[in-house]
Amino acid sequence: MLQALPVKLETSGDEKALLLATMKKYNEAANFLAEQAFRLKIANKVELQKRFYYQLREQFNLSAQFAVRVISKVVEAYKKDKRIKPVFRELGAIQYDQRNLSWKGLDRVSMITLKGRIKLRTRIGEYQKSRADRIRGQADLIYRKGEFYLIAVVDAPEQSEFDPVGAIGVDLGIENIATDSDGQVFRGETIEKARKRYNSLRARLQKKSTRSAKRHLKKMSGREKRFKRDINHVISKAIVSKAKGTIRAIALEDLSGIRSRATVIGRKQQRDRHSKWSFRQLRAFVEYKAKRDGVPVKFVDPKNTSRECPKCHNIDARNRRTRNHFKCTECGYEAMADHVAACNIAARAAVNQPIVAPLFSAVTSPLALAVGS
Ligand SMILES: [Zn+2]
Repeated sequence: MLQALPVKLETSGDEKALLLATMKKYNEAANFLAEQAFRLKIANKVELQKRFYYQLREQFNLSAQFAVRVISKVVEAYKKDKRIKPVFRELGAIQYDQRNLSWKGLDRVSMITLKGRIKLRTRIGEYQKSRADRIRGQADLIYRKGEFYLIAVVDAPEQSEFDPVGAIGVDLGIENIATDSDGQVFRGETIEKARKRYNSLRARLQKKSTRSAKRHLKKMSGREKRFKRDINHVISKAIVSKAKGTIRAIALEDLSGIRSRATVIGRKQQRDRHSKWSFRQLRAFVEYKAKRDGVPVKFVDPKNTSRECPKCHNIDARNRRTRNHFKCTECGYEAMADHVAACNIAARAAVNQPIVAPLFSAVTSPLALAVGS
């Protein structure tokens, strides 16, 4: 499976200015060519190259490779819908490949700019280093918050699944974004605060409905999306690495279960919070990372996971008196509600797919050891 690996570049003031100038020229050239392609209704690479290659090189001072990349970029975008003239951002990404960029390990990179090649150091972690041997030629240069990054493509092998010893049940967000059957809660004041801030700001802007309010809303939704994505990455990573470290499978409910349960609780506000948090994405991240790390994922019937007592299995809507609190009407067992749901999910995974491998063999099999270490 291919994976995107962001690598931060260390740049001096001069180097940064040079990269910025290169980026601007590159996108300026792309916008110029898009204009021509649109005017002449040409979406054919060879034809555009024939007509504009030299002009791109001279007028925009592009290297041969950049001129070719600009042509590909424009053709790709214009082909999608010929009724629309593609417009590229001033600081849009530059696509590099092995002809205009080369890696020395992952520590150093040499790349073409408007003024020839420059060599830069990168700032990378151990995890990224371990992926260096799988790096492919292509990488996108992007500019974010005053820093340059190369988004490299690495070939990450999927690991074969290990034999799990039990499962971690994960309950996705009634009160918290995620709670597992060990009782760990994935929430954070920062998340809650940001969520409130976004919600109230959005409400205010929606009332206004002026053009600038609309623009603001659009910008905000992008920022909010990135924030949620980051949080979902952090949570999914924590869940998967815990499962891997304890040789357990991950048990999840069906997505449809989240919605219907929220409806049963009948709090509109609560329901809004659910639909607004990107659970689909969180689940996709968990599945993706699990697959990558060889962690089995099991799906269970979500029915009554929040109402069943994990001790005596009494199912009763009154077991869940409030959103947070579970108390069994039969045996009196009490716990945090999301934790109870997570325990039920874990138990169902164990019942659904009995684990045949005895504990001892699972722990001592070479695969399990490799995975656990
Ligand atoms: Zn009970």
